[in-house]
Amino acid sequence: MEIKREHWGELKDGTEVWLYTLANDSGMRAQISTYGGTIVSLWVPDRYGEPGDVVLGFETLAEYVDHSPYFGCVVGRYANRIARGRFTLDGVTYQLACNDGPNHLHGGEVGFDKRVWSSSTRESDQGEPVLELSLISPDGDQGYPGTLRVRVSYTLTDANALRIDYEATTDAPTILNLTNHSYFNLSAGQQASVLDHELRLNADRYTPVDDTLIPTGELAPVAGTPLDFRSPRPIGARIEADHPQMRIAGGYDHNFVINGEAGTLRLAARVVDPTSGRVMTVRTTEPGVQLYSANFLPLEGLPGKRGLTYGPRAALCLETQHFPDSPNKPHFPSVILRPGKKFCSTTIYAFGTL
Ligand code: BGC
Repeated sequence: MEIKREHWGELKDGTEVWLYTLANDSGMRAQISTYGGTIVSLWVPDRYGEPGDVVLGFETLAEYVDHSPYFGCVVGRYANRIARGRFTLDGVTYQLACNDGPNHLHGGEVGFDKRVWSSSTRESDQGEPVLELSLISPDGDQGYPGTLRVRVSYTLTDANALRIDYEATTDAPTILNLTNHSYFNLSAGQQASVLDHELRLNADRYTPVDDTLIPTGELAPVAGTPLDFRSPRPIGARIEADHPQMRIAGGYDHNFVINGEAGTLRLAARVVDPTSGRVMTVRTTEPGVQLYSANFLPLEGLPGKRGLTYGPRAALCLETQHFPDSPNKPHFPSVILRPGKKFCSTTIYAFGTL
């Protein structure tokens, strides 16, 4: 195993940014930056043992700072949308930035994806590389109440899994929803799109959205819709289907209610790329997972790593999370964090081959 740290660049204000490389003893390598806690690359063996980089991203820090569509970053304080950027907690109404049409998205103008995290490394009890990132988000940061202390730990296990543990505490009541926004293409650039990737989701229900992508509040059955991935289906099979939810989102951009008990680690998704033979399983303690088929990547393509260009459907995101707009939907699992309580959440992206 190996842990390496190199200087990756600076922000305009001179803040130094590091790039860490974690390697395990089973052929996997992850590069993670202290800028946004971003997974910059993730090298995974294919069916012949050939490593390939299965996440979208850029070569340089400057591109992440300038125009990243949330490639690989930690999203916070609130992943996904809050309607009109407004919520009421203990009788006080808070107004956040509306940075996505009428709504608040991914923590606002300067979310956790744009922050430089403090870092340290260690070995797990099993001798696996661990990167620990931490951040103090001051009271009032982006309009959210409470001083929030956040820790995100990345462990690259010898079973070829990237394990992400999130922890947070606050000094005043607040809301919180953390995720990682990696865009996966398991062919490692061999296929320009993920339309042939086969997906299974462990979800009988999803949260339908209005035309600004805010949940209507319903927990609707997936049965009989293009959102039914209870048996494996190619992502492309029904992505153009004439279904209102697919038209609203321009593809998949929906939160699924993961079967089983939130708070316990259970299967959320399994993805197979028939070309490379790579298989990814996603397990999480979170109640939901956002399936996003990169609908908003530019049609002309976004220049990325190794001369690749990324267009719509170039990747899929499986963002484990609490449901969008939960602060305004009292019947959704609660996103409230209070002083004296510790928020803990785990997501594991595990890799293998057919
Ligand atoms: C959201 C999309 C958004 C994308 C990139 C996803 O989590 O669901 O609607 O466009 O992130 O920002």
